[in-house]
Amino acid sequence: MRIHLVQRARWVLLGVIVLCVVAGIALSWQNARAGNGPGWLRRLAGPPQVLAGRHIGIVAGHSGNDSGTVCIDGLTEASVNRSIADLVVHELTLYGATVDSLLEFDERLLGYQADVFVSIHSDSCQASKEMSGFKVASLEGGSQESGALASCLWKSYAAATGLRPNPNTVTRDMTDYHSFREIAPSTPAAIIETGFLNADRSLLTEHPDRPAHGIVDGIRCFLLPAEGR
Ligand SMILES: [Zn+2]
Repeated sequence: MRIHLVQRARWVLLGVIVLCVVAGIALSWQNARAGNGPGWLRRLAGPPQVLAGRHIGIVAGHSGNDSGTVCIDGLTEASVNRSIADLVVHELTLYGATVDSLLEFDERLLGYQADVFVSIHSDSCQASKEMSGFKVASLEGGSQESGALASCLWKSYAAATGLRPNPNTVTRDMTDYHSFREIAPSTPAAIIETGFLNADRSLLTEHPDRPAHGIVDGIRCFLLPAEGR
């Protein structure tokens, strides 16, 4: 009888130990998914799910409507916008966000609600020294959040691409961008011109991952200020 009890106690103890180990592994895994813990475990767990639960809308400028600027050799603004926007959507998804890939005049835009809305465009193909750099705008007189999103994009995009900010060429088409008045006023929104199709072409067409990363970093800066980006 006594031996039987001792054996039972051993099994219970073993069960408790196994449970503790499993719980420890699950906790460490969860931690690593959130971007914390040792480097090897974080690498194993994949990109940190820092944007889980966030809803983001990304417009590939001119998509579904027209070509935008067209260069003499046939390069179109719409194709450049599309490749950058697709990379942005992909990267945001890797971080756990729910992302809508939107057309320029998408029917979902009316009253669109999200944590962030960014429209991606690029600039004219004129050959001129002045025609280089990027710029960002939010609705003139719009919400504080939209202004904060634009500030984050200015900072993060410059850091990721090395392109110079070109605020002097911000147009009314940007500050009064049509979607700003279509989406819900509570949705923080900005538009970015990622660079000029002539002077900044190699960055935009050969290394679209860098502009894309700059935009994702700007969104992270706005949504996750504690990260200090
Ligand atoms: Zn455009």
